[in-house]
Amino acid sequence: MGQRDMVEGMTEKYSRVYAEVDLDAVRSNIERMRAHLSDTARMMAVIKADGYGHGAVPIGRELEALDYMWGFAVATAEEALALRGSGIRKPVLVLGYAFPDSYGDMIRNGIRLSLFRYDTAEQLSDCAAKLGKGYQAEVHIKVDTGMSRIGIRPDEEGLEFFRRILELPGLRVEGIFTHFARADEADKSQALRQLERFRDFIARAEAATGYTVPMRHCSNSAGILELREADMDAVRAGISIYGLCPSGEVTGENVGLIPALSLKSRIVYLKEVEAGTPVSYGAAFVAPGRMRVATIPVGYGDGYPRGLSNKGCILLHGRRAPILGRVCMDQFMVDVSHIPQAEEGDEVTLIGRDGSERLSMEELGELSGRFNYELACCISKRVPRIYLKSGRIVGIRDYFQDFR
Ligand SMILES: *Cc1c(COP(=O)(O)O)cnc(C)c1O
Repeated sequence: MGQRDMVEGMTEKYSRVYAEVDLDAVRSNIERMRAHLSDTARMMAVIKADGYGHGAVPIGRELEALDYMWGFAVATAEEALALRGSGIRKPVLVLGYAFPDSYGDMIRNGIRLSLFRYDTAEQLSDCAAKLGKGYQAEVHIKVDTGMSRIGIRPDEEGLEFFRRILELPGLRVEGIFTHFARADEADKSQALRQLERFRDFIARAEAATGYTVPMRHCSNSAGILELREADMDAVRAGISIYGLCPSGEVTGENVGLIPALSLKSRIVYLKEVEAGTPVSYGAAFVAPGRMRVATIPVGYGDGYPRGLSNKGCILLHGRRAPILGRVCMDQFMVDVSHIPQAEEGDEVTLIGRDGSERLSMEELGELSGRFNYELACCISKRVPRIYLKSGRIVGIRDYFQDFR
């Protein structure tokens, strides 16, 4: 039995739809980026939004043991605590704002917070003091060098913030970081200006206080792929771990990233329709002639974009089959007139490869008016994730089971 057949046999339960996540691809992507980086830079895997829809825990487990992995980054306190609950032991940094009601749990679990507001720094310090001896909040100061999102400004006020943070008991400044707004463009001049502001601020803050911040980090995936100057002590790899491109201008081709996720379903109904037959809601498509139409049991309730109505396609027997009419919540139709061997029960590929054809997250993201990051995040909990290593299933995430 071939590896492919084995996977098919075991995924029968998930005939309607499943996302296959290739952990070998994830591993290869991280290794290739590592080979590309300066020797001294460690890596942080950004696994927010459930690992960009791929599954934070299985990916965390796959990467945790690598010695150059410093740890993980997520967006919220809940995401960080969930990783701890699943046995992830390496450092976890919350990149966004964490609300004070989470501070006790965060400190107890050694989760790193991003700091950019003095009031929350004080609350965090108080919280550490209340927990008692031995408890310390590890923090990373966020500097706004060009996103205008969160972060202290790299000015006199920012320096004052830095100074005052160092005086608070129960806090240890482990890191300082900033985030690129435009590293995913071919022209790196804006990213380099941000980097310069960041370096300059660190130099001034350290000179003013005599404190050396152990970990300075700046790069996202785009920086990792194309800006060696920004490696510093660590880098934060997000979209690239999953083998997806930061942008059309920064594709990761230089590193050879491999997309990790494929989305598969099956034809559940096949019929011929006559010329003039409307297909799906609103008759947004009307058959111009006799056609063979297949129904796919997936829709926007699975995160499959409604924006692909009359635009997208799927792969069947290595060929593209265009979507007819509107994508519904749970189903959509495709034209298979040109694929005579199509039958009910045939597997179809909504994202991924079939023979020499490929439908990428990038292409569908673009077509649907979303983009690849958003498309990946939006694959819903109704879609089970199946994890493969060397072609074997090593884990299944089924939200219906998990939440029972
Ligand atoms: C999401 C995020 C990243 C990862 O960005 P990618 O483009 O996915 O690599 C890095 N840093 C911060 C602060 C982020 O919010």
